[in-house]
Amino acid sequence: MATHMTPDEFRRHGYAVVDWIADYWSTLDQRPVTSADPPGTVAARLPAGPPEQGEPFDRLLADLDTVIAPGLTHWQHPRFFGYFPANTSGPSVLGDLLSAGLGVQGMLWSTSPACTEVETVVLDWLAELLDLPARFRSTGPGGGVIQDSASSAILIAILAALHRAGGGRWRGHGVERAYRVYTSTQGHSAIEKAVRIAGLGDAGLRTVAVDPETLALDPAALRTAIEADLAAGLVPAAVVATIGTTSTNAIDPIPAIGELCREYGLWLHVDAAYAGSAAVCPELRWSHAGLEYADSYCFDPHKWLLTGFDCDAFWVADRAELVAALTVLPEYLRNAATESGAVLDYRDWQVSLGRRFRALKLWFVLRWYGAEGLRAHIREAVALADRFAAWVRADERFEVVGAHPFALVCFRLRPTGDDDADDVANAELLSRVNATGRAYLTHTRVGGRYTLRLVVGSPYTREEHVAQTWRLIGDTAAALPSRPS
Ligand SMILES: *Cc1c(COP(=O)(O)O)cnc(C)c1O
Repeated sequence: MATHMTPDEFRRHGYAVVDWIADYWSTLDQRPVTSADPPGTVAARLPAGPPEQGEPFDRLLADLDTVIAPGLTHWQHPRFFGYFPANTSGPSVLGDLLSAGLGVQGMLWSTSPACTEVETVVLDWLAELLDLPARFRSTGPGGGVIQDSASSAILIAILAALHRAGGGRWRGHGVERAYRVYTSTQGHSAIEKAVRIAGLGDAGLRTVAVDPETLALDPAALRTAIEADLAAGLVPAAVVATIGTTSTNAIDPIPAIGELCREYGLWLHVDAAYAGSAAVCPELRWSHAGLEYADSYCFDPHKWLLTGFDCDAFWVADRAELVAALTVLPEYLRNAATESGAVLDYRDWQVSLGRRFRALKLWFVLRWYGAEGLRAHIREAVALADRFAAWVRADERFEVVGAHPFALVCFRLRPTGDDDADDVANAELLSRVNATGRAYLTHTRVGGRYTLRLVVGSPYTREEHVAQTWRLIGDTAAALPSRPS
């Protein structure tokens, strides 16, 4: 017999869960950043099958400490500097909790009007905060929507681009022609995946050369690729340009790419998954120059804008095109509001039908922090990254690799002339630093050479954490075998 949790039980256990999270956040600094346990450790702590009888909630909560926490990578840790940050915050978590408690489905406007309307308005607010081009606002022909991830946003943009490139026939006839999508060699792997899901095959993606210094897409190489494809009877459909590549934060020249897209009639999607958040600061908006050329644009508030995963903000300049590409209207979803044309039905803007009230957490974050608070968060991370880069530069054993316009710094041991030995030494340095559990960094390759990445992003990171990590890196480097000191 089902024993549903009563509202009073929920209240009691809910308070305990909130206490647990608050304790977790306030003790992060004392925990190792990553787990040292070998694969299978967490699974081995779990029973072989599900319980026949329900268990008291206290037992569940206790297992968080003994089973779960030791197997975590603590992404909110003040010394987590890997990948890109995936920061969250109190207002975001509470907004998400409310969304879970409401349990509404926002697939249509009519299935929960507030779910759609808050999302539309909050995305307009966000467009204003980033000073995005007016064409993305819902008050004109464009508009914004929350996707689960930048990967989904890229896929949706490519589908709309195919719809356009096929003169509207893509919907009925699928991929009839040899469509081509362009990105730089530094474009995110999600682009390759999206092209594959869209049915274009790996041959559907053209990776265009970058400037060897800046690693930004070379517009001349893009033109050459488009011309060659046209000459071969292929159909150029879209360009995915990046503001802030994952590897090094390279910034593609959007104005020049936009001109080419206009000239050849290509859809331009701009992927600013990480760096988009920086545009809340006027002094960092130069990175978004040329965005008025974009047909669609996205960034992840779940990376650097204090809103927990999943929250990708995606805008289109012409929502009618997107909806035409994706809409399907079965009888059981017909309703007067949709037929009136006066509402947005977000199911037509994404892959899945169902959608939860994700705008609530974003709304809470924008209201709790205000534009001022968000700008302070970004500025603090950028300032700490600048400080780190200055320490690296001042140490003759190391070098900073390329520019660091935001809060990602790429660096490595100064080259000795023996590339292979340098790669081994840098990989060993990273592995030893991470093995201490006192910090966590990840790596990339720049020009083929192994390079360390440090990204500041956790709201708990202070200068002392960056300084401790820099000391750890320096001490570890000093202990490496066979490095000239
Ligand atoms: C992180 C990242 C993505 C993928 O982000 P998801 O939201 O996890 O899908 C795409 N593009 C860039 C440039 C990224 O940094």
